[in-house]
Amino acid sequence: MIAPPTASNVKEPPVLEVLDLVKHYPIKDGLFAPDRVVHALDGVTLTVGRGETLAVVGESGCGKSTLARCIMRLEILTSGTLLLHGKDISHVGGRDLRAMRRRLQIIFQNPYASLNPRWSIGSLVMDPMRLHKIGDAAGRRARAVELLQTVGLGAEFMSRYPHELSGGQRQRVAIARALAMQPDVIICDEPVSALDVSIQAQVINLLKKLQKSLGIAYVFISHDLSLVKHISDRVAVMYLGQIVELADTSAVRQRVMHPYSQALFSAAPVADPRAAASKRRIILSGDVPSPVDPPAGCRFHTRCPYAKDICASEAPQLRAVEDRFVRCHFAGEPGFPPPAPLSEGKYT
Ligand code: SF4
Repeated sequence: MIAPPTASNVKEPPVLEVLDLVKHYPIKDGLFAPDRVVHALDGVTLTVGRGETLAVVGESGCGKSTLARCIMRLEILTSGTLLLHGKDISHVGGRDLRAMRRRLQIIFQNPYASLNPRWSIGSLVMDPMRLHKIGDAAGRRARAVELLQTVGLGAEFMSRYPHELSGGQRQRVAIARALAMQPDVIICDEPVSALDVSIQAQVINLLKKLQKSLGIAYVFISHDLSLVKHISDRVAVMYLGQIVELADTSAVRQRVMHPYSQALFSAAPVADPRAAASKRRIILSGDVPSPVDPPAGCRFHTRCPYAKDICASEAPQLRAVEDRFVRCHFAGEPGFPPPAPLSEGKYT
């Protein structure tokens, strides 16, 4: 296993470490069929520093949300280790698990589904404090009002119900609930993708403001690459359950080194119309292979325009190449990956 990739400019120990994480889901095709597994995550290693935003990007089904659920211990890990402030939380239960969940919170994609419609906003925000036996009833109420004000909602929202709120207001309530535990890390699982574009910026700005004042680290899962480039400190690109490239966002803005990252980021919209006109959009041919039977060797070789014989037989490791970590046999070779042709090879 390689050393955990850490931000290049961070000196203090990471808040969260994910080491060689594996999550397989067993499936049964029939009574006499051999057991098979879905390879949702295979050897994911990363770190998150205090006050850092680590973005995790990739196509649907690449394992981003499974990673979020595993970090939150909402899934049983097949193998691997999770460290929070250096303490192993991979298998803790009972009181230790509750204590861990105070430090580690999650905001889900859909604010319409993540809040119980029968509860008032006040009850929803006070509930985590009640579950963790924090303060008395009056103290929790005062804290809930304070949290609602922190996220830009007033005390008058305490008596309202989720159906009376807009999508953006509901996501603010979800953020207030997460903040109630004073977490060190918040897993943001596509937190704005269900919101109108006009509301997205408000919620993102709120998250950034809270990070600055409270030093919270975010693991920001998203498929919005423009947004990721705007808000993250580092980016991890995932393909079929593995990280294929991990780098500082400033380095990613300059260039990407993995052929899959190249295709993925070519799809990101750019604001400058002249840059947009000259931009080459790479559309990979073929579907993402099944995670039940991932390709041998490099998992990307069935779609990679630069694949050679070795790619089908030898699995590349995630290794340090210049200013980043890349999982490709040829990363770091001069001129690799070459600029994509407009219509050639495995590009369409
Ligand atoms: Fe492509 Fe081979 Fe690199 Fe995999 S190892 S990304 S198939 S060139």
